[in-house]
Amino acid sequence: MIYVHIPFCKSRCLYCDFFSTTSLDLRGGFLRSLLNEIKERTEEIRLARANTIYIGGGTPSQMAPNDLKAIFDTLQCISPLEEGAEVTMECNPDDVSSEFIEGLLATPVNRVSMGVQCMNDDLLHLLNRRHTAEQARKAVEMLRCAGYHNISIDLMYGLPGQTMEMWQNDVDELLSMRVPHLSAYSLQWEEGTALYRMMEKGQVSEAPEELSIEMYRYLVEATRCAGMEHYEISNYALPGMRARHNSGYWRNEAYVGLGPGAHSYDGKAKRSSNPPDLLYYIKTTGLPQQEVELLDEDALYEEYVLKSLRTMDGLDLGLLAPKYRNYALKMVQPHILAGRVEHHGDVLRLTEDGIFVSNDVMSDMML
Ligand code: SF4
Repeated sequence: MIYVHIPFCKSRCLYCDFFSTTSLDLRGGFLRSLLNEIKERTEEIRLARANTIYIGGGTPSQMAPNDLKAIFDTLQCISPLEEGAEVTMECNPDDVSSEFIEGLLATPVNRVSMGVQCMNDDLLHLLNRRHTAEQARKAVEMLRCAGYHNISIDLMYGLPGQTMEMWQNDVDELLSMRVPHLSAYSLQWEEGTALYRMMEKGQVSEAPEELSIEMYRYLVEATRCAGMEHYEISNYALPGMRARHNSGYWRNEAYVGLGPGAHSYDGKAKRSSNPPDLLYYIKTTGLPQQEVELLDEDALYEEYVLKSLRTMDGLDLGLLAPKYRNYALKMVQPHILAGRVEHHGDVLRLTEDGIFVSNDVMSDMML
């Protein structure tokens, strides 16, 4: 699994604390450094396998088509794409134009993940998103016309001023479009973001928790009626359309992350990351001093609990050493009795009620 982080955005959305910059003039230096990093990390890239590639950000669709092609060409020289590989690129609806699609067709991208967030223009404007609902509709249509049917849409709920009716309209419209994959997250109020500061000044307020829960319940039910699998806490897919790259993260598979701020994992006990500092990344031609973390047995156990319980495949007790298996079973018992976790054979899985208190369940299972 290969991840490439493109740290550029045309403008900043008010709620966002991802690592990205609006200094688009740094794209040239970034690209040179990224291509160098790819060439210098050949061995790791080969070991991580090109069975999935995910180009994320930031906003990858802010890179010129030729630059994207150069990234894929360089990657493929080192590690040719495996048969049937999933190649995803994130993009923003306002970037989807005929020229953009023409450029995309020259790359191996076969899955597009689009940040739509909501279909209400007032809310989009409030969040400083650059697109309108109509642009999102158009983008899906244009991508489909060009043959891109594997489309994932990101949505947000619990937005300031978002009513249940607005949310139902968004969900209903997207489901009627038969988009095969949805990711929906409740708005996180991250300190340091512009939206957080607006909340502190009393200009916006958090949605009541009950409303966010009601929105989540509506989504779960509506996606189920539409034949989608709710296969991870925040992800829904038509049969056969699960995100393979993200599923690999949840299964603890090895991946290599390229670009500033990108993380890598060797599939065993070593995590490493490039610092989230674009100028430093450019100065070191893509070879910054990495931060490295070695996970001990306890950390690996906790990581497995956190990742596996997010998915509907659940936590396989059979994969744990006896001391961790016994501990996990003891700590999860009250949640099984309360109907928040199911226990079948060796597998523990959150029930629908358990999903709403997943943080409590997971934290009780920590060491
Ligand atoms: S486009 Fe995405 S990465 Fe960029 S600021 Fe908005 S939410 Fe953050």
